[in-house]
Amino acid sequence: MTLRSRFTLFTVFWLIFILILYNIFVYFFVIRVTTRGELQLLANKADLVIETLRQQGMEGIEDPKLLSDLYNFNEMMRIVTGSVKVVNMVGSDEQLLSIPPQMQSFYLSETRQIGGQRVLYLSVPFFEQGHLIGTVEAARRLTVLDSYLQILVGALSVTSIGAIVFAIFGTYWFTTRLTGPIGQMVQTMREIDRSGKLYRVKLNGREESVELQQMVRAFNQMIDRLDRTIEQQKHFVADASHELKTPLTVISSYADMLKRWGRDNVEVRDEAIEAIAKETERLQKLIRSMLTLAEAEQDSWLSISRFDVAIVVRDLSEVLGTTFQRDIRVHSDGQSVMMRADKDKIRQLLMILIDNAIKYSKEPIDIRIRINKQGIKLEVTDYGIGIQECDIPYMFERFYRVDEARHRSTGGSGLGLSIAKKIVDLHDGKVEVYSKPGHGTTISIQLPRNGKVSST
Ligand code: ATP
Ligand code: MG
Repeated sequence: MTLRSRFTLFTVFWLIFILILYNIFVYFFVIRVTTRGELQLLANKADLVIETLRQQGMEGIEDPKLLSDLYNFNEMMRIVTGSVKVVNMVGSDEQLLSIPPQMQSFYLSETRQIGGQRVLYLSVPFFEQGHLIGTVEAARRLTVLDSYLQILVGALSVTSIGAIVFAIFGTYWFTTRLTGPIGQMVQTMREIDRSGKLYRVKLNGREESVELQQMVRAFNQMIDRLDRTIEQQKHFVADASHELKTPLTVISSYADMLKRWGRDNVEVRDEAIEAIAKETERLQKLIRSMLTLAEAEQDSWLSISRFDVAIVVRDLSEVLGTTFQRDIRVHSDGQSVMMRADKDKIRQLLMILIDNAIKYSKEPIDIRIRINKQGIKLEVTDYGIGIQECDIPYMFERFYRVDEARHRSTGGSGLGLSIAKKIVDLHDGKVEVYSKPGHGTTISIQLPRNGKVSST
């Protein structure tokens, strides 16, 4: 069942229920109020008869004038005494006169159905010195009241049916407007599914409901995000193919050279073998970096543990310093600096930063470990070529290299810092770059001390 039908049915049923309750209440309330007035009228007449009798010392009980003065055409009045004997009676309505007389010592009033019409019946006893003398009985047809009630029922029915019809049309119109954007979204999703292209849902300006606007906006934001991701992926594939193509071309050209002249010319052979080895190594490194980036997209990439980051930094600087014959100085706020994070990824992050510092400078390198309010700050400073301010925002993009030509010689693929950024992001950390061309660069990483608890 559609949302529209459900909403309409619910509203209509609910309205019918309320209307039924309301109509029943009005009907019985009107009956009660009007019947009470009629009853009061009859009771006054009976009281008047009893009062007159009392004034006359119970004389003239059979006097026809006693009742005929008070008589009305749609009524019957009589006095019953002794052993249920009618001693005085006035009235012309046969059905009212045929009501069996009663003699009782208590006041009785009730509504009876006689000949399909409602009749108000009243019986008032009267006493003399504590002895029951008789009863004044009165009955009155509620003809006028019944015709008013019929009008009331008619009016209530017409207004109720009108309200239900209005409710049906109103709800239908309202839900059509309400579900319009949902239908539009479903159509857009089907279109996306069918064509494989991403489309946004167009909001027509007259849509006032905030929730629907939010829903459409959220949908469009999701589409934009997907669009950006797909676009990035396309770029990545294009860049990756380009990056893979260059070393492969070099390898294939040297392989050709080897085939032609390699057997005779030792010089050519050595050069080709050297170049092929270098390019293969570059390819391996590139593929490793690409795999790391792909793995980083998985939720369970991090495995959090508690470790001493100062030890990691010292070990790494010693290994890299020895390997590359460079002076790497470590300055730490404490002998041991404990933190919760993924130890291997933090090591990889430091390796990427130190590798850059080594590649892009010749002077000694400083690494600082600071403890601050936000957690732990790791700073890698080199005194090398530096980066132009305009290049800093792009440094962390995949395959971005400040100087393409120069970096062919240093062998960088431009993926190091994007892996580093990913590691920092996954740890809920922040990266800052301070650099001055010709003077050097400091890359500062702020990490929370207790790690990213959510991804343990
Ligand atoms: P890879 O690290 O993948 O081998 P790469 O070092 O070229 O290659 P990134 O580490 O991502 O790539 O760095 C991107 C670019 O930022 C570098 O090519 C370089 O131009 C610039 N860069 C990074 N670190 C420094 C630095 N310490 N000093 C000067 N330039 C730097
Ligand atoms: Mg690098």
